[in-house]
Formats: sequence, structure tokens, C-alpha cells
Amino acid sequence: MVVGDVTTGTDLLVIGAGPGGYVAAIRAGQLDLDVTLVEKDAYGGTCLNHGCIPSKAMITATDIAHGAGNAEAMGIHADPAVDLSQMVDWKDGVVDQLTSGVEKLCKANQVTLLEGTATFAGEHTARISHSGDGQGSESIEFEHAIVATGSRPIEIPGFDYDDEPVLDSKQALALESVPDSLVVVGAGYIGMELASVFAKLGTDVTVIEMLDSILPGYDDDLKRPVKQRATELGIDFEFGYTASAWHEEEAGIRLRAEPAEGAATDGGQADAATDREPIELDTKKVLVAVGRQPVSETLDLDAVGVDTDDRGFIETDSHARTTVDHVFAVGDVAGEPMLAHKGSMEGQVAAEVIAGEPSAIDHQAMPAAIFTDPEIGTVGMTASEAHEAGFETIVGEFPLRASGRALTLDETDGFVKIVADESEGYVLGAQIVAPEASELIAELGLAIELGATVEDVASTVHTHPTLSEAVMEAAENALGHAIHTLNR
Ligand SMILES: Cc1cc2nc3c(=O)[nH]c(=O)nc-3n(C[C@H](O)[C@H](O)[C@H](O)COP(=O)(O)OP(=O)(O)OC[C@H]3O[C@@H](n4cnc5c(N)ncnc54)[C@H](O)[C@@H]3O)c2cc1C
Repeated sequence: MVVGDVTTGTDLLVIGAGPGGYVAAIRAGQLDLDVTLVEKDAYGGTCLNHGCIPSKAMITATDIAHGAGNAEAMGIHADPAVDLSQMVDWKDGVVDQLTSGVEKLCKANQVTLLEGTATFAGEHTARISHSGDGQGSESIEFEHAIVATGSRPIEIPGFDYDDEPVLDSKQALALESVPDSLVVVGAGYIGMELASVFAKLGTDVTVIEMLDSILPGYDDDLKRPVKQRATELGIDFEFGYTASAWHEEEAGIRLRAEPAEGAATDGGQADAATDREPIELDTKKVLVAVGRQPVSETLDLDAVGVDTDDRGFIETDSHARTTVDHVFAVGDVAGEPMLAHKGSMEGQVAAEVIAGEPSAIDHQAMPAAIFTDPEIGTVGMTASEAHEAGFETIVGEFPLRASGRALTLDETDGFVKIVADESEGYVLGAQIVAPEASELIAELGLAIELGATVEDVASTVHTHPTLSEAVMEAAENALGHAIHTLNR
């Protein structure tokens, strides 16, 4: 069908159907707004199609294969054969199921779906260009708009994602055969998660990181068990280097990395870059995972008068409102933390505010999880952040090696740490390194949300034997009476 130059009207135009946009659209539909959701690529956005869901599917599958092949101590002697192409098909099936679910949910909530690329053409007008020969474009007049256009991977000079050996995370998650070797540039959470996936598939993995450790921004005690497990998996690290160039060799590529100015080797003192020589690594593939940048420059935001900061993020207030009253922005395009659940929460708030409900964004109990081996889960403040915010704190900790369930899982690296306000006992934050830390952290997010105290957490009976008992014991330890560890 050729779409001519027609103009339609809508109460609310949502641009981008990722977890920010589609959640906003569904919530607005529930609130009886007339909503149009426009998506240029695939329902579910990065999260469902190329991010959270496919990466977690691949982590699960490679954990099963690696676990089965490394369980001799349990009397299991197996050498699992992995068919990566079949694994990827299974992962794609999971993605298809979820993305078609999003489409159905939108329709069931009376959301009008439009395929095309939106740009602003005026204060209350957007142009939607439809892809494909002769598909044309149309105009939409809107009362309100929510921008939820997400983010894209940052490119580094000399590493073009169109070149076959250079991969972004989306391409890495779609590989149909296991590369013999892989250099991962960037030891953030995406780089570390995918480094583990490929190491567990038998790839020879080297991670290059400009800074002096993995997972910049996380405390050392959280990173230590993850780094140790990665090393046990055979992952090599080159800290304090930046990837600068690559060229083809007969058996793959040779990658060059230069010493990063002022960087230190892992945990060491900063060296002058000139003290160290560049390094060269032979590899089959290189995955660049150095962060993501907002998709905002393609929207013609000037036409509607919306400002961005100097990195391209759209500035918003606690109602997800931009500098223009009737335009809202949610998700990755509205700034850090770039996490799916943060985008969904903002999407709901924006829809509710537009519908006239009293709703506001609260980042206090915003959890984050890293699906490395072991996982990391965090929420609220660390002890040092709490001190900086003026709190006197008590901290309770429980090591996983003292957990019966952790022993039965043969996964004893890690701990649960709870930070609480000393005078009243309110839970201020928690940090967990453990299998299923991504699940365990939810209890402590709820504690913060409800204004619960460590006493409340400690006196809640937890099922035995579970990893969640470690949460209860950490709370008891904060009060000086944990049963299964010595109290400080
Ligand atoms: C490998 C990887 C793993 C990740 N793992 C996790 C995880 O475990 N947990 C977590 O919380 N987060 C994770 N993330 C981050 C998460 O994917 C993002 O935070 C989330 O997708 C952001 O949602 P969003 O709605 O803001 O944007 P997106 O999901 O990026 O969706 C934006 C949508 O807008 C569309 N769009 C853009 N411009 C236009 C336009 N002009 N017109 C129409 N449509 C447009 C895009 O096609 C896209 O579908 C991961 C990301 C990656 C890459």
C-alpha cells in the first residue's frame, strides 16, 4: 500500500517501541488516551531484540553447556556438543514470542501501531517516513509526544561495525559459529557478559579495557569475584589500553592497542602511557562494547524546541517532561542509567502525567543487575555513598560460602551486603554478588520502597534452603546477631 501525504491526529504520539515507549503507550491506552506508537524497526526495541533478552538467553544456554561439562565433582562426566546455530535459533524464538506479545498487548489496549521513522516537523506535528520503495510518508498532529528512541552502540575510530570481523553486541549475539578467538574492547557490563558467553563456548577471549579494572563505577569487592571467575574461565585482560587499529592477516586479524594516558594496570599505580609499549593481538573477531549513545540527533528536535545536553541526552524533569511542556522523553534517550526497567518506569510516569494523574519518577530504589558469573545486583546507596549523603551507617554482610543453598549449587563466591541508617535502621542500599543476584536484589528494593528497617528484613522468615536466607542473615549481621556467620 502506498501511503500518501495524509494527516491524522492523536492525543499522544509515542516515538519508539522499546521498553520505554511500548510501556508508555500501553499505560496511556489503559488511561483512555488516544495513542499512536511509531516504530521504525522492531517492537520491543533494543531490549527485546538485541539486548537484555537475547543476551540473557545466550547466558542461560552457555551456562547449561559449561556447567554440564564442568561438574565432575558431582559425578557428572559430560562433554556437551554445542550447535551455536541451533542455540541462536532457540534464542530468536524467545525474542519472537516476546515481540509478538508486545504487538498484541498494544493492540489490546487500543494503541494504534505505525511502522516508520518519525521526525518532528513543528510544535505539534511529526512526519512519519515509511520504508520501502514508494511507501511515502504521512503527517501526524499530536497533543502530546513521548520520545523513546533509545540508544545505539558507540563506535571507536578505525572500528566500523560494517566491517566483517568487527562486531557490536547485536552482531555478536547473532553469530552462527563459535569464533576460535575474540577480543572484547570494553570491560563494562555488556563486554563482560558477552566475554563470559564466548569463553564458555570455548572461544579464546581477551578483554581490553582503557581503565584499570572491569565494570567501572562498581566497588572493588563486587568486581573481585567476577574478575576471578572470568580468569578461571580463561579470559585474559589487558588493562590500561585502547584499541587503535586492526588489519587483516592470513588467519584472522591483528589488532593494535595503545597504552591509555594515565591508566593503571589492574589495581596498580597509574603509569605514564609512554612507559608502556603498544600491544598487538591476533584474533578472529573483535567485539566493541565501549558504551552507548542516545538516538536524538535524527529527530529534528529543533522543530519542536526540545533541548539536549552536550552528549545528546534529552533533559527531563521528575515527570519525564522535557524543556517543552507537551513533550516528554523516557528511557535511554533521557539519560543514565540506561536500563530497560528505568525506561519502563519513566514511560508509565510520562503516560500518567499526560493523563492528569499525580505521578513522579523516583530513582531511590532503582535496582541494577549485571548477568556475569556470578551475577551482581545493586540497589540504593553503597556505604560510602550513604556517608557522603550524611548518614551514619550500619553494614551487615553474609558470605555465600556460609549458605547451605550456595553449597548445594556449588556456587559459593560472593556475598550479600546491606547498608542501613544507624539511628533508625532504615535500609538505604544493598550490594549482592551471587548466582541469581538479579532476583535477590528485588527484596531489598522493596525494603527501600516500603521504608523497611534491617530489623524488618531480619525478622522476616525466609524459606530454607534458599539463597534469600543470605539476605536475612546479612540483615541479622547488621544487628549483630547473624546465626551462620561470626558477627562483627
Ligand atoms: C547487549 C545488551 C544487553 C543489555 N542487557 C540489559 C539488561 O540485562 N537489563 C537492562 O535493564 N538493560 C539491558 N540493556 C539495556 C536496554 O536494552 C536498554 O536500556 C533499553 O532497551 C532502553 O529502552 P528504550 O525504550 O529507551 O530504547 P530502545 O530499547 O533502544 O528502543 C528504542 C526504539 O526506538 C526506535 N526508534 C528510534 N528512532 C526512531 C524514530 N525516529 N522513529 C521511530 N522509531 C524510532 C528504535 O528502532 C527502537 O526500537 C542491554 C543492552 C544491550 C545492548
